[in-house]
Parts: sequence; C-alpha cells; structure tokens
Amino acid sequence: MSFKLPELPYAYDALEPMIDAKTVEIHYTKHHAGYTNNLNNATENTQYADMSIEELLKNLPMDNAAIRNNAGGYYNHNLYWEVMNPENKGRLSGKLLDAINEAFGSNEGFEEAFAKAAATRFGSGWAWLCVHSDGKLDICSSANQDNPLMPGIGCGGVPILGIDVWEHAYYLNYQNRRPDYIKAFMSLINWNIVEKKYESLL
Ligand code: MN
Repeated sequence: MSFKLPELPYAYDALEPMIDAKTVEIHYTKHHAGYTNNLNNATENTQYADMSIEELLKNLPMDNAAIRNNAGGYYNHNLYWEVMNPENKGRLSGKLLDAINEAFGSNEGFEEAFAKAAATRFGSGWAWLCVHSDGKLDICSSANQDNPLMPGIGCGGVPILGIDVWEHAYYLNYQNRRPDYIKAFMSLINWNIVEKKYESLL
C-alpha cells in the first residue's frame, strides 16, 4: 500500500452545525477511503506506486481515468479535511493576508471570488486558492476530481485551499443549496494551516 488514508484530524461531529457528522463520516470512510483504495489498486506494479502524490499528479497519465480520478480524489480530500478546523482556525494574517490584498483587493474580495468559483462550477468539482511560482495567488475551479497540479488543469498553481462541491459533500444537510454550504465551509477555514502552506511555497 503506497498511499495511506490520513487520519481525520477531528471527530465526525467537530464541524457541526456547519457540516453534519453523518456527511463527514460517509465522506471520509466511504468516498475518501474509496479513492485511496482505488488509487493503490490502479497504481500497483506501475512506476507511479513509489511516487509522492504531488509527483504523481505532476506526471499524471491524463488518459488513464482510474489513476486520474483516484489520484485527484486522494489528494483533494487530504487537503479538504486539513484546511478545516473550528477549534483553531486562526486569523488571516502575515504574508498570506498581504498576498490576498494584492490579488483580490481585500479579504472580502477574496471571499467573494472564491465563493463565486465554487458556486459556478457546473456539476461536480472543486474550487481552489492556488499559489504561483512567483508567490502570487489565484483562484480557479476544476471538474470531477481534477486539480491544478495536473497537466493543463485550472490555473496551474499549487493549491493551498480547496472546497469540494460534489453533492456528496453537502446534500444531506443542504440539499441543493450549494451557496449555503460554501458559506459554512468558509467559516471553518483553518487560516493557520493555509498560511503555513503559503509560506512553505515562497
Ligand atoms: Mn468528496
């Protein structure tokens, strides 16, 4: 087993009432675990089995649907759980705050652009806050389990924040009200972790 399902960094009910315990449990134990198992099966005895997930995504065989979907699903959900935490979310500060102000005018400008990218992604997919090699921030979205580390996808930066807008992420609690789920997600963002990710890429 090359790719391991990371432990969920909090209890299933830790994100309530913004994201309900049943949704977190199913999302983590069925969807995320499923992508992990399927990724291991799809890469077994291939050159990809010994790569880090980031290296695999950068060298992804885009015409191999099993590897593409499951490598994306594995990486995307690792990031998703990591960047939420109601207990210790911290405040947007430091170099990341400066970069957000430069790219989006203000924190409100960022929130509006990020929520719009997430709300307007048609069907299943993700919206991302990414860092380019010059440290500049960018927002984009991608379909299905694709992400901007994959060749030719999105803005081509490195994601430091991502929101899952597949219906399985919110349907039990929000049904078709994706914008309400997006607002709830944004209140759960752990800015300490996002800031650390940003500074590690400078
Ligand atoms: Mn998902």
